[in-house]
Amino acid sequence: MLKAFLAYYRPHRTLFLVDFGCAVLSGLLELGFPLAVKAFVDRLLPQQDWGLIWLAAAGLLLLYVANAGLMVVVTYWGHVLGINIETEMRARAFDHLQKLSFRFFDGQKTGHLVARVTKDLEEIGEVAHHGPEDLFIAVMTLFGAFALMFLVHPPLALMTLAILPVIAFVTIRYGGRMTRNWQAQYGRVGAFNARIEENVGGIRVVKAFANEAHERALFASDNLKYRTTKLEAYRLMAGALSINYLGLRLVQIVVLLGGAAFVVRGDLTAGGFVGFLLLVGVFYRPLEKIGAVFETYPKGIAGFRRYQALLATEPDIADRPGAIPAPPLKGEIRFENVRFGYSPDRPVLAGVDLTIHVGETVAFVGPSGAGKTTLLSLIPRFYEAEAGRITIDGRDIRDLTLSSLRGQIGIVQQDVFLFAGTIRENIAYGRLGASEAEILDAAARARLDGLVASLPEGLDTVIGERGVKLSGGQKQRLAIARAFLKNPPILILDEATSALDTQTEREIQASLFELAEGRTTLVIAHRLATIRHADRIVVVAESGIAEQGRHDALLAGDGYYRRLHAAQVEEPFSDRPRT
Ligand code: ADP
Ligand code: MG
Repeated sequence: MLKAFLAYYRPHRTLFLVDFGCAVLSGLLELGFPLAVKAFVDRLLPQQDWGLIWLAAAGLLLLYVANAGLMVVVTYWGHVLGINIETEMRARAFDHLQKLSFRFFDGQKTGHLVARVTKDLEEIGEVAHHGPEDLFIAVMTLFGAFALMFLVHPPLALMTLAILPVIAFVTIRYGGRMTRNWQAQYGRVGAFNARIEENVGGIRVVKAFANEAHERALFASDNLKYRTTKLEAYRLMAGALSINYLGLRLVQIVVLLGGAAFVVRGDLTAGGFVGFLLLVGVFYRPLEKIGAVFETYPKGIAGFRRYQALLATEPDIADRPGAIPAPPLKGEIRFENVRFGYSPDRPVLAGVDLTIHVGETVAFVGPSGAGKTTLLSLIPRFYEAEAGRITIDGRDIRDLTLSSLRGQIGIVQQDVFLFAGTIRENIAYGRLGASEAEILDAAARARLDGLVASLPEGLDTVIGERGVKLSGGQKQRLAIARAFLKNPPILILDEATSALDTQTEREIQASLFELAEGRTTLVIAHRLATIRHADRIVVVAESGIAEQGRHDALLAGDGYYRRLHAAQVEEPFSDRPRT
């Protein structure tokens, strides 16, 4: 894992070396100051030469200024390095998400995926900056300071060292508890993020059922749990902080007493004494840093693990090596002995054989859950057939690149997804870069021109998240306009109008007939009235195709279709077929 992590530094080698070099230099200067003070007290003071003393002070000032400059480089450019790595990782994570298939997203919670691309990577960015550099500097100053202390006065250095195990014990103990606490915090934040997301997303259902109090209670519980976890973190922090403080003072007292004794015995110079005290400070600071590492590292490591797991998720549907871009399709679709199921133990489709001719309009009917949507979602390869194959114009669809295949299939679904932009942007999603005239034409064909004309902002009207500001029929028309703009040779209409009232349905039907013209069209329909003129009707039931034929022929038989038709005609409020 470390190797994979360090690989991200490679493109930023120069920046890293500059940053690292400056950090090392700054660390060395920190180590040098106590020695300078020692020399100042021991050598310069006895001479009582103010000229020299001023010179030394000026020299010291110069070094401090230099160190301040180094700190600017380390703080700013070190973070630049971190954010560069973070940006790159975020781009990769998002790119990878775009490649993953429906099957992956079926098993994910949106909130958690969002957290991976935002929060996780932020933590990694922190480590990417503070990580190697901080740890290295900390270890360097720790050992450096100790070596110097030893150089100045070995017995005193050993006395200082005696207290180290105590400090190390406390640091590690608190570190471990902080790590566990942090992991708990991560879970809590995820939980209430998911809660907020679901609440806001489903606010219409919440209000419709007047369940605000229930939602408040659920949220309050998550919120309290988060508070409890945070309180523990603050307790740990307070404890660690004061123990740390005490530790340093303790060492100072020991050095003060021991040093005093050595000075009195003439074993230690006054400068050595002062220098040593300063060195204790330098020696102690990295311990705090190393303690902090215990906090940032687990966050970064956990985040990096999740990030890597995401990148390691192979898209289960991707271009084959040697897949070719599809030529302009005519639209002859053939299923050959196709089998498919979402899980191995529950087949949805088995032994499906079906040929759809160029330009044909084929309707699919059948009980809900029979597999109509599933059958048609195999054509754009949203899911992959387990056995058998599907060809378009005689070519196996797996031999075509995904983008060229999907680029020639238009889909209008029952629950249209609209983006939170303008009408224009949503129509243009059908073919990015379409001209104004083309967008207006598509809107007109989808009978959306009336609405657009009536709006003060026209095409630039913002439709709200998921198009909340539009009616069901308007959303559907927008989806149809997208399909007009895309102008694909193959069209899939999946219960495109069944959520609408009959009046609206009939109006939209006209647009759909026009859209189907000259294309191979596959229609899933709920109300039989909308499909009786289809070239062919396919009844999907019990893991495959039960019967197929024209409306009249199927009615003459004694299958599902005849029964369904009878039921819909008898149902007084259903949409009776009109002639
Ligand atoms: P229809 O469109 O005919 O109503 P579907 O093709 O949507 O039926 O569903 C067929 C079966 O597959 C149903 O039993 C449904 O529960 C199941 N199913 C549909 N989508 C998924 C999915 N994404 N993951 C798992 N099972 C699914
Ligand atoms: Mg369906």
